[in-house]
Amino acid sequence: MSDSVPTMTTGGQVPMVRAEAVHKSFGPVEVLKGIDLDVRQGEVFCLIGPSGSGKSTFLRCINHLEKINAGRLYVDGELVGYRQRGEKLHELKDSEVALRRRDIGMVFQRFNLFPHKTALENIIEAPTQVKGVPKAAAREQARALLERVGLADKADSYPAQLSGGQQQRVAIARALAMEPKLMLFDEPTSALDPELVGDVLDVMRDLAESGMTMIVVTHEMGFAREVGDSLVFMDGGVVVESGHPREVLTTPRHERTRAFLSKVL
Ligand code: ADP
Ligand code: MG
Repeated sequence: MSDSVPTMTTGGQVPMVRAEAVHKSFGPVEVLKGIDLDVRQGEVFCLIGPSGSGKSTFLRCINHLEKINAGRLYVDGELVGYRQRGEKLHELKDSEVALRRRDIGMVFQRFNLFPHKTALENIIEAPTQVKGVPKAAAREQARALLERVGLADKADSYPAQLSGGQQQRVAIARALAMEPKLMLFDEPTSALDPELVGDVLDVMRDLAESGMTMIVVTHEMGFAREVGDSLVFMDGGVVVESGHPREVLTTPRHERTRAFLSKVL
């Protein structure tokens, strides 16, 4: 990196994610209009807000799937991208992006498993192909991960043979197989039948207890209240309100937050 790349100033521990005035547009449409937030190491950071408020876009910027147009975004103390007026665009090289993406696990609303691979084959794919982990070791790790998500007996099942909740737990195991330092969850239970949501949330709760840093976009306010360390309410591409989940959920300060919560609680 050149000398002109800004470095982060922190009072103590380096946050896992820091956003400073992050802007993102698609063509003329500005979707993120200056996001400022810190995600501390080891915390469960919940992100809520109406559809279209920019939650997925923000996660995608953190995971290098989108490039920000302005502001500064740091992941684990390293600059992902920035642009100030008059400054040249700072962009990571593709090889740097690939390396950094290894450290971030992402779980989507739709499970995105490879349909023609078994649960175990799905899990060993990235460690063997991307990291060069020997197959035997990757298989052993995959079995341990399947056990961890309560699916020890499903190693040889194909996605179509699993329920949505089981597929999502395989997807979580698959992300964990890369030993990420940050896990992003984008509405991981929104596509599930209600009776399958609990098992997935239990896996996420265990993961939180193990100390994983997690950013969770969710409409599961019970999970946010019980497991979350911080909660941010986004609307229209800005952070409207943030704080401890219990505070924000029980005594929201802003009318927009109240209006949203009255619909989802
Ligand atoms: P949320 O996850 O909060 O529902 P999104 O981040 O998915 O919101 O989307 C925010 C806005 O950005 C929406 O209006 C959406 O249509 C728009 N958007 C998202 N991705 C793209 C894209 N690749 N191209 C154009 N518009 C997009
Ligand atoms: Mg979304």
